[in-house]
Amino acid sequence: MRAMILRRPGSPLEPAVLPERNPGPGEICIRVTACGVCRTDLHVVDGELNGAALPIIPGHEIVGRVDALGDGVKHLKLGQRVGVPWLGYTCGTCSYCCMGRENLCERPLFTGYTRDGGFASAAIADARYAFDLGEEGEDVSLAPLLCAGLIGWRSLVMAREANLLGLYGFGAAAHIIAQVAVEQGRRVFAFTKPGDEKGQAFARSLGAEWAGSSAEMPPVKLDAAILYAPNGRLVPLALAAVRKGGRVVCAGIHMSDIPAFSYDLLWGERELVSVANLTRQDGHDFLAQAAKLKIRTHTTVYPLSGANQALADLRAGSFEGAAVLVP
Ligand SMILES: [Zn+2]
Ligand SMILES: [Zn+2]
Repeated sequence: MRAMILRRPGSPLEPAVLPERNPGPGEICIRVTACGVCRTDLHVVDGELNGAALPIIPGHEIVGRVDALGDGVKHLKLGQRVGVPWLGYTCGTCSYCCMGRENLCERPLFTGYTRDGGFASAAIADARYAFDLGEEGEDVSLAPLLCAGLIGWRSLVMAREANLLGLYGFGAAAHIIAQVAVEQGRRVFAFTKPGDEKGQAFARSLGAEWAGSSAEMPPVKLDAAILYAPNGRLVPLALAAVRKGGRVVCAGIHMSDIPAFSYDLLWGERELVSVANLTRQDGHDFLAQAAKLKIRTHTTVYPLSGANQALADLRAGSFEGAAVLVP
């Protein structure tokens, strides 16, 4: 199989040809047809997250076909189209798993971080954490749903019943969640980097009723705001943009430091929360919604060997929507 491997954080991914492994008990082998590129991959490659199991094949928005079944896998079939997300394994026995919060598991494995991911022509996954994707939609279009969509969905649920919803950072996640939120009848306010008029126009084209710079205040106080940009300076800005009792949800796995801010910004029962990982239930809930709402993803396709370019373009913000690698 072909793969792009991270050997040392801060250095480019290296192309490699690796022997194929047979799936172990409970595992499946997947012939990868598309794998999305997520900002978390960028954090892993840049070494901003400690704990990557190096060398590692990044990529946790995997779409492919089941190629081989390990012993005991009964619920998936050869040739079935599946998706593999960030959550690759949970222990099932820690207090978090037992209370239905497997996203916070004490002994998890994460695809493309602590177990090999999908920047490859083939991948092995624990069959219990793979989602059936059905046959509707193109592989490339579905890939961004598996993290940008899924984590985005969890953050939208965390925003509760917010009608006036702010989205800070209009990248892969926001471009999906804006569509879901508008379909749900919410009013969306999109915040981009100052001067990113293309990004603001993109947000309006997906149903945002207002789009502007993250340095601006929206025309009305928001019920909730979700932060997708990994920039801690946005936290006090978002708190200032929400009404009393409003909520700010930080959806990224990594964020630069949050500057000190006046307690006035939190006062009035405003809440500041983070979203960590996903549960399998989030996946089932979101993928059902995405199919029903006919969510359209905007993708830029790169060959597998172009993974470094895709990461560089993501860092530079030089495309709208999501990057997807095709082996
Ligand atoms: Zn656990
Ligand atoms: Zn991700």
